[in-house]
Amino acid sequence: MAVTPAAGPGEAYKVVIVGTGFSGLAMAIGLKKTGTHDFVMLEKADEVGGTWRENTYPGCACDIMSLLYSYSFEPKADWSRMFPRQDELLAYIKHCVEKYDLAQHIRFGTEVTGAEYDDDTDTWRLSLEGPGAEAGEIVRGRALAAGMGPLHQPSVPDLPGLASFEGTTFHSAEWDHSYDLTGKRVAVIGTGASAIQFVPQIAKRVRSLTVFQRTPPWIMPKPDRRVTGVERALFRRVPGVQRGYRNGIYLLQESFVLGFTNPKLIKAAGNLAAWHLRRQVPDPELRRKLTPGYTMGCKRTLVSSDYYPALMRPNVELTTEGITEIREHSIVTRDGREHEVDAIIFGTGFHVTDAMENAHIVGRNGLKIQDAWRDGIEAHLGVTVAGFPNLFLLLGPNSGLGHNSMIFIIEAQVRYVLQCLRMLDASRAARISVRPSAQDRFNEWVQRKSAGAVWVAGGCSSWYLDKNGVNRAAWPASTIDYWLRTRKLSPAEFQLDGQAR
Ligand code: NAP
Repeated sequence: MAVTPAAGPGEAYKVVIVGTGFSGLAMAIGLKKTGTHDFVMLEKADEVGGTWRENTYPGCACDIMSLLYSYSFEPKADWSRMFPRQDELLAYIKHCVEKYDLAQHIRFGTEVTGAEYDDDTDTWRLSLEGPGAEAGEIVRGRALAAGMGPLHQPSVPDLPGLASFEGTTFHSAEWDHSYDLTGKRVAVIGTGASAIQFVPQIAKRVRSLTVFQRTPPWIMPKPDRRVTGVERALFRRVPGVQRGYRNGIYLLQESFVLGFTNPKLIKAAGNLAAWHLRRQVPDPELRRKLTPGYTMGCKRTLVSSDYYPALMRPNVELTTEGITEIREHSIVTRDGREHEVDAIIFGTGFHVTDAMENAHIVGRNGLKIQDAWRDGIEAHLGVTVAGFPNLFLLLGPNSGLGHNSMIFIIEAQVRYVLQCLRMLDASRAARISVRPSAQDRFNEWVQRKSAGAVWVAGGCSSWYLDKNGVNRAAWPASTIDYWLRTRKLSPAEFQLDGQAR
């Protein structure tokens, strides 16, 4: 049944969802399945897809297997590869929008520039900008679900002299497809999950490629291949095969969590990665540069079978000397060498723990998110924040994974939010807020668990940690643990206030 959003000018939606990536869409589908149609989705871009719309760099794919990297309630039997590529993921997301009839709820070209809780009306007041919004437009929602994605704001390092560079520069998440790399001298800064995917693709086309590595990543082989016709027929026709396959991948991925706290298991996995490096890189000098000096898992472990071979091409150089300066046409390294380049591509990741530093989010009684998070970003189960009633973060603090599919976490969070909304409805209160004591207890546990774990004790820095070295991004336990904690909301952890209007 087609139901248009209920709120007219000045009225409040029951729920406002920000973002139309995997998390925002899962929230919308969850609402519809539970009979709530009074919601709107605000999307700054002109297309759905989140991460899989924004990242279009050559070779962009997911390093979690296709059969697991999809909604549990919307299996897809005809994935073309074992690991899904960006275009296929985007097509899957669009299929979900169509199947669940979500387009009517989405406003494109509508960026939320601020969110304030209005104590007088008990609504979230969102300021909008963009081609899809009227000048100064405000949208109100009784609840707000924020699905903006934790890896959303590209981070470009402030390298000395960068502004003087006269060639082309762009970030991996803002790939400039109008710039033809063919025959160009190209620099890539960064060697994270994104860079190791696009380096092999562009290495074939460019005249020369200099990869500037600060810290070598741990890399496991990627068993990617085409999914055969027989497999697809089995997935489609034989009941239980696809579900069994998916569950098998889930359990395999889940077993990696044991490594985060068990040095013996980390060592065994490290041996496999070291074997992969030895097998693919015979040159001892290059191998030395590529050997990590910290415990595996401390940074996100990467998977690739074509990155090391790309580095061995005659037109590719890996430099580990730090960058001291950028000039009009070159990058200068600590050893005094000047690398002449036409373009610089930043594979330098995203703002994560500092992403909300400039966000305008104001909770009850004028509480700014920056004040609530003065000592670091934190939430209860990554979803609710004390002082910010009826606000639900999707993939908020400490709900990121280094070892399994984020879609599992998204689905658990959506179920949790739906329970909160149900409790609010049943109580006829205006506000549901997590109690500060529950949030504190949870975060003390997170930090206790993190203290001995590989992200904190593994001898590296990563986007999981804030500037004080505190884990603010990674979920420090198994996803089964997360599922158990979110499966049934504990009413005692929440406070209900006010009168529903
Ligand atoms: P990233 O993992 O944060 O890697 C950033 C890279 O840039 C690192 O090698 C980092 O070096 C380097 N870097 C940062 N600042 C630098 C500077 N000032 N000078 C020199 N090097 C610098 O970023 P990403 O590769 O975009 O990936 C981000 C996350 O996105 C991943 O961890 C993953 O969660 C997700 N992702 C997932 C997939 C997937 O397949 N599922 C694919 C791509 C991305 P240091 O290590 O020394 O800091």
